[in-house]
Amino acid sequence: MELTWEAGDSWFERTYAVENDDNQTVETLGSQPTLNELRKIERQYGDPTERLDLWQAGLLCADCSSEINDRFAANPAGEILCWDCAMDTDSTTQNGLRVNTDPTKSVMSESHLHTKSLCDHVINVATGCRHGCEFCYVPTTPAIDNRDGMLTDQADVNDPQIDWGSYLLYRDDLPERLHQVLENRDPSERKQTKRGRGIVMLSSGTDCYQDRRTAQITRGVVTELITHDIPVRILSRSPALVRDIDLFRVAGDRITVGSSIPSFEAPLVKAMEPNASPPIKRWEALDQLQQAGVPVFVSMSPTYPTMDEDDFHELLSYFRALGEIVVFHEPINPRGKNFQQCLEAASDSGYDEVAAELQQMRDDRQYWVEYALEQLNTVQQVATRFDGLHVHSWPDDELIRSTSGQLQSKLKAMQQAVSPESFGPIKPESQSSQSELLESHQSFQQLI
Ligand code: SF4
Ligand SMILES: [Zn+2]
Repeated sequence: MELTWEAGDSWFERTYAVENDDNQTVETLGSQPTLNELRKIERQYGDPTERLDLWQAGLLCADCSSEINDRFAANPAGEILCWDCAMDTDSTTQNGLRVNTDPTKSVMSESHLHTKSLCDHVINVATGCRHGCEFCYVPTTPAIDNRDGMLTDQADVNDPQIDWGSYLLYRDDLPERLHQVLENRDPSERKQTKRGRGIVMLSSGTDCYQDRRTAQITRGVVTELITHDIPVRILSRSPALVRDIDLFRVAGDRITVGSSIPSFEAPLVKAMEPNASPPIKRWEALDQLQQAGVPVFVSMSPTYPTMDEDDFHELLSYFRALGEIVVFHEPINPRGKNFQQCLEAASDSGYDEVAAELQQMRDDRQYWVEYALEQLNTVQQVATRFDGLHVHSWPDDELIRSTSGQLQSKLKAMQQAVSPESFGPIKPESQSSQSELLESHQSFQQLI
């Protein structure tokens, strides 16, 4: 598939078309195709792993008419801009969200998420996130916290943390840039740890399916990763995940697709994740993916202090119904400004009991330690009722530091464990699963 063009009366008048590999025109476009049109065509025709490379394809900038031979982005109307014009464009407000182009140079970053057995690299398709989850740690990380100047320039952001959820900067040309990186870099130079297994995850700092534009970037990125035989993990709170089932099926067992579902109590989830979809919609998306043969996982995180054995039983029974699945679990951690925001959000939504528990956790570290240990243990115990359900717990570093002796050793062993997922030929090294670690010798319950 290729974008072709014909000149009109002058060099600046061009009409575009898309041709398939047999040089047949599959789509005739006007003189100024939008990025949305081009990405849609890419998705509609031919092999799901085929991409339309928009670099050096004869496209002209909608503002200055120069030919696009390098970086590009779209303006609010979706027209394609050269990089200079894109950087001169002011943000616009769409449904209360300030949007613009992300000037970030990096394409794929090494990640510490191997400590959670998730990945070795992350790719983020945007800066900012429209979901605006109250507990989100992203605005406290250097990727946001150290970039207030850029965020002010690009989206009039006053305070990157307080304004989190109200700005979004897209990386439209990421698929093209990733293609260059993967073609030019020796694969052996990529980081590969035992727990991260060389996996590339989308996304750690934004939701990669939060809207059509991010989904279009994500599709291009995933296509590049798959065609370069790189294992991929996708995590999203959006049911729009299902739009790329065709592509995920081609990836086979080199991909796993997951969603965060901390609870099915929709009003509580809405209080904490104000702009994300209801949890049952996320489950339905995973069900659709699983039925299409796509490997799926769930991130049950962060679980709230009022959740008890019955809540976990309900959650895990829904997850078990998805068939072969790995569930990652993490209790909530009382750190930073975002924890205070959770507390206020719970209180504002009438969840007084949740707010009181969070307050107590923040004021009394030992209270949090006991809650976290209790939840990790309860979830692992409930999981034993569901044959073949793997729960991979994430004990926090601070929790480990707050314990000692055998309990601390067990928590460390849990942290070192590799999730039981296979990525094609990349299997977890043989080791005790987390549930065996908890059952063996002295039980976790006795140690708490
Ligand atoms: S979806 Fe993820 S990145 Fe977006 S606000 Fe929520 S936790 Fe943060
Ligand atoms: Zn231009």
